[in-house]
Amino acid sequence: MDIAKVPTVIAINEKLFTEKEVSVSVLRLDLIHPFICGNKWFKLKYNIEDFFRLKKKYFVTFGGAYSNHIRATAAAGQEFGIKTIGIIRGEELNENSNTTLKFAAQSGMKLFFASRDEYRQMRDSGLLIDRIFSELRTTNTDLFMVPEGGSNALAIMGCAEIVKYIPEEFEFICCACGTGATLAGISTKLNDNQKAIGISILQGEDFLEKAILNMNSGRKNFQLIHGYSFGGYAKSTAALDSFCETFFQNHQFKIEPVYTGKLFYALNELIKKDFFIKNSKVIVVHTGGVFE
Ligand SMILES: *Cc1c(COP(=O)(O)O)cnc(C)c1O
Repeated sequence: MDIAKVPTVIAINEKLFTEKEVSVSVLRLDLIHPFICGNKWFKLKYNIEDFFRLKKKYFVTFGGAYSNHIRATAAAGQEFGIKTIGIIRGEELNENSNTTLKFAAQSGMKLFFASRDEYRQMRDSGLLIDRIFSELRTTNTDLFMVPEGGSNALAIMGCAEIVKYIPEEFEFICCACGTGATLAGISTKLNDNQKAIGISILQGEDFLEKAILNMNSGRKNFQLIHGYSFGGYAKSTAALDSFCETFFQNHQFKIEPVYTGKLFYALNELIKKDFFIKNSKVIVVHTGGVFE
């Protein structure tokens, strides 16, 4: 089972990079599929294989109203003919509340809107509540459950494959971190001369380092950078918005303020502060997330 397109590596030039003698390239995971967002494909891949192997009936997962994982799961469900179910946090929402939910519903995902309490209960127990079971007329054995954000062991195994597309000459592999599963997967396959740099897009996430060490069997070949959350998940500022806009004008591909905008913004700051020594070869993983 595979997707059509292999991601490409492109070099990007900016005056700052030349001045500091740091070479920067981008791994365009955003180009692998029009709807299944970059890293989310790698997270889903082995989950989908297991779903078929175990002959389950429904592929069930969890997410907030703006979740790229929900969007990607719905798109993958359509692509592979899988019945997907999305448990969405927020009983006040519906299928028309935003473009993510509209897209998911139009791709055939069945959405259930749960109160904060119900959501937490289901997410933490991995079991659906009775009202959903009776509506689906199904039992637990029919369900293939994937956690919020899709970050399980199969996802980490899938993200490890991202490294296949990174030429060995790159010493620094940078990506945006939410749960950290993408970075954890990447870190399991790096050579000794390579290091992963994760930009945390969440605020004050002290747990992130521990979470990654849990997911990557304790490998210490990564470094997390904090201070570029711009106020927290999905928060932005005028400076970040205009950075994304200017970036698009200069490089003709899009980044967005939730993940990849913060990533490139932080990268620029790190290069300014001489975080990378001269002649370093840096590759940035574009994990997607641009839909409009
Ligand atoms: C989900 C997502 C991430 C974060 O991935 P994690 O594995 O949770 O760290 C990064 N970039 C984009 C575009 C995403 O959608």
